[in-house]
Amino acid sequence: MSLDGPYNDQNIFAKIVRGEMPAVKLYEDRDVLAFMDVFPQARGHCLVVSKTSKARNLLEVEPDVLCTVMADVQRVARAVVAALNPDGVIITQFNGSAAGQTVFHLHVHIIPRWADQPMKGHSHGKMADLDELKVLAEQIAAQIT
Ligand code: AMP
Repeated sequence: MSLDGPYNDQNIFAKIVRGEMPAVKLYEDRDVLAFMDVFPQARGHCLVVSKTSKARNLLEVEPDVLCTVMADVQRVARAVVAALNPDGVIITQFNGSAAGQTVFHLHVHIIPRWADQPMKGHSHGKMADLDELKVLAEQIAAQIT
């Protein structure tokens, strides 16, 4: 999908936000939902999505929504670091399929990095074990302040 086009409310993250699809959630408030990525590029890879905006990407999102989302990205990233003690953390976001975006509902990736572990590819590969994701989500959620 190009950068231009309509928001499709049948996208998977919209369904997760509405409770129509399951997700391993770790944080939720009025504005955002954070949950584990089911095809993680590293242990603890999670996503923060807007619950209120119909923006497909960062270029479309309302600035006030973006500020709220990014404040919660910081909160969740701090919790990821506190819970999992990585050497680094990637905060990333894709705009348009040519840039690697596969789900067209605004979201931000939080990917912990360990210096001695290679990062897996984006949005492909093996689906994570859901029980392991639940444990990670609990560990991260326990560190959210
Ligand atoms: P992007 O390619 O930036 O749009 O990111 C979409 C991300 O969502 C990828 O990292 C996928 O692994 C992830 N993903 C796809 N379906 C689900 C799902 N049902 N629950 C959690 N993560 C998902």
